[in-house]
Amino acid sequence: MSELRAYTCGRTQHDVAQLIAGHPRERRTFASTVFCYTSGDRRVLFDTGYAPQPWRTGLAGRLYQRLLPPDLPPEQEIAAQLDPASITHVVLSHLHPDHIGGLRHFPHAALVLHRGLLATLANPRLREGLLPGLLPDWFADATRDPGTVIVDQFTPGPFGLDTCDLFGDGSYQLVDLPGHARGHLGALIEGRVLLAGDAAWGRDLLGEVEQMRAVPRWITHDGAAHLATSGRLLEAERGGARLLFSHDDHPSGVNLL
Ligand SMILES: [Zn+2]
Repeated sequence: MSELRAYTCGRTQHDVAQLIAGHPRERRTFASTVFCYTSGDRRVLFDTGYAPQPWRTGLAGRLYQRLLPPDLPPEQEIAAQLDPASITHVVLSHLHPDHIGGLRHFPHAALVLHRGLLATLANPRLREGLLPGLLPDWFADATRDPGTVIVDQFTPGPFGLDTCDLFGDGSYQLVDLPGHARGHLGALIEGRVLLAGDAAWGRDLLGEVEQMRAVPRWITHDGAAHLATSGRLLEAERGGARLLFSHDDHPSGVNLL
């Protein structure tokens, strides 16, 4: 039997009114969720959550933490919630700090990366929100490892999404979700549950992408693509896909499939 579980690996707080114009003031807690799909011998992690302090990430790191203060109780670190040695694959939706913080625990897992991430790594710009100090020393070499899966070709898949079938059996289809960050990736699990990463700050904000304020708009890689992605996700949902965003709260300890 296969299963999909959610782990909250830290959180941040932000006023939704500062993200979305016209939204009422609401100090909201945004969880950083890691999803683990287990099927047969495979255990596939989608993102890795926050890193514990101290972050050695310089001025850019201080700016980031001022904007989005991270909170990671020790027991919420991903390595405290599951056995890192049991993970066979790590998919990174993108390289923002709240998605790569636990990566250092998984040097033995096969990495799965969108080719766009390599472009960011080679030439990061401040607005891309990459804090290289959070990446483990072995990461640059791992991107050239033959065991690493670099995804750059997508074909029309379920729900009108552009997908790449990771294992060739339809169980784990990577989904091209451009806009939020360069190489932003989602995953369609067993053809019905769609891990949508940061395509929106939360499901209820998916239809409000156009009202995004200047700062979140500035850090968005491609605004037009982001808007188009949100439209396609809404359509996928109408078609029967269940959308799970990284920063919503998800029940823990239950199978989400
Ligand atoms: Zn992000």
